[in-house]
Amino acid sequence: MRLSKYFLPVLKETPADATIASHRYMLRAGMIKQNSAGIYTWLPLGHRVLKKIEQIVREEQDKAGAIEMLMPTIQSADLWKETGRYDAYGPEMLRITDRHDREMLYGPTNEDMITDVFRSFVRSYKDLPKNLYHIQWKFRDETRPRFGVMRGREFMMKDAYSFDLTEEDAVKSYNKMFTAYLNTFARLGIKAVPMKADTGPIGGELSHEFVILAESGESEVFCHRDLVEMAPPGDVDFDGDLSHIFEERTALYAATEEMHDAEEFAKIPADKQLTARGIEVGHIFYFGDKYSKPMKATVMDSDGKPQPVMMGSYGIGVSRLVGGIIEACHDENGIVWPKSVAPFGVGIINLKANDEDCAAAASDFYEKCKAAGLDPLYDDSSDRGGVKFSRMDLIGLPYQIIIGPRGLKEGIVEVKDRATGERQNLSPDAAMTLLTEAFA
Ligand code: ATP
Ligand code: MG
Repeated sequence: MRLSKYFLPVLKETPADATIASHRYMLRAGMIKQNSAGIYTWLPLGHRVLKKIEQIVREEQDKAGAIEMLMPTIQSADLWKETGRYDAYGPEMLRITDRHDREMLYGPTNEDMITDVFRSFVRSYKDLPKNLYHIQWKFRDETRPRFGVMRGREFMMKDAYSFDLTEEDAVKSYNKMFTAYLNTFARLGIKAVPMKADTGPIGGELSHEFVILAESGESEVFCHRDLVEMAPPGDVDFDGDLSHIFEERTALYAATEEMHDAEEFAKIPADKQLTARGIEVGHIFYFGDKYSKPMKATVMDSDGKPQPVMMGSYGIGVSRLVGGIIEACHDENGIVWPKSVAPFGVGIINLKANDEDCAAAASDFYEKCKAAGLDPLYDDSSDRGGVKFSRMDLIGLPYQIIIGPRGLKEGIVEVKDRATGERQNLSPDAAMTLLTEAFA
């Protein structure tokens, strides 16, 4: 993409109401625009990151055997009345009346609706296990929307729902998602620690939150230090036994504020006790027949007896992750994207746009990057060098290629690694090799 043809409304001023880094940088880098409290337009740069995160989440769900579908944002209140949640949910739910005076709502979550889908089609235990998911906008009329997309009112969630005949099988489904989440967050370039969590209004018995440790986190969390550095499971057989992956991690203490147990925590060696602030980016629940029972979602077991299906639900805050990743990956000059989610792979800076040789060399490098699938953003504007440098640092692409008249005379371009700040003078060919290897 040529910057001159793109839409990148970078702000010079730091917006006054943005108190945390991700919110500030997302506004300044032209990633989002607020439309009303907690409701945002995703501008092109932000949209690219959102889509990349969404795609990684999707791929890891698919690997774990979950099946993608799409449920609507607007739901009928009827299903929520069946489960008793219509009254229980409270003012966070946006209630809507249509022209025929029917009660509708903008879905804050989808347990009720998916249970209705399930009971409409599935009759036998032979059709189990199943895990259905979608990636869809949600609405929760939060009391205090803040921190940009981190606590929005409209936000994008991946939510998956598992169905099993027995509790034992349901725990296997839970472990699949637990494992998939570890791999998902590792691919996104962040450390998200699984922590024992409260089940809240979703209800249920077994629950873990996946939490990024960051100073700006809204809640206090407690864990064993070793858990933070544990390697992700990587390639695993999702049809095999995954209980060891779950057990290895849950053997180490990790709990959210609500579930924190000071006595248990005190048993950890003092140098391994970690108290930190956390950002919840995922939350998984096992809740058995909490919804299937009132909604009569049953399957026939092998004796031909109807049994309420045992369920779990598994959320990832896709849009919150855009902010969450920035909280974990930034410096005083701007965002430092992990390669996997960067909006563009490489930024090319032409220091002298009106110089024919520079323009030709930059153009040539840009075309080669495109051909190599590096997804370059070429700053071909006539702005001053300083403006180009700070803008490129702000938007945080993993590599910058700086092309100027002095270097060109010697046949070199400058390569800057955004994360380390390291600079190298290389021939254009050697720079290309470095980039292709970095993204291989
Ligand atoms: P929180 O405690 O942060 O309010 P929650 O526990 O209510 O979140 P869940 O019902 O577990 O949220 O939803 C699944 C995921 O959706 C969360 O882990 C989070 O990443 C994301 N999420 C929830 N609420 C919001 C919001 N207001 N804005 C952005 N993402 C959100
Ligand atoms: Mg939660």
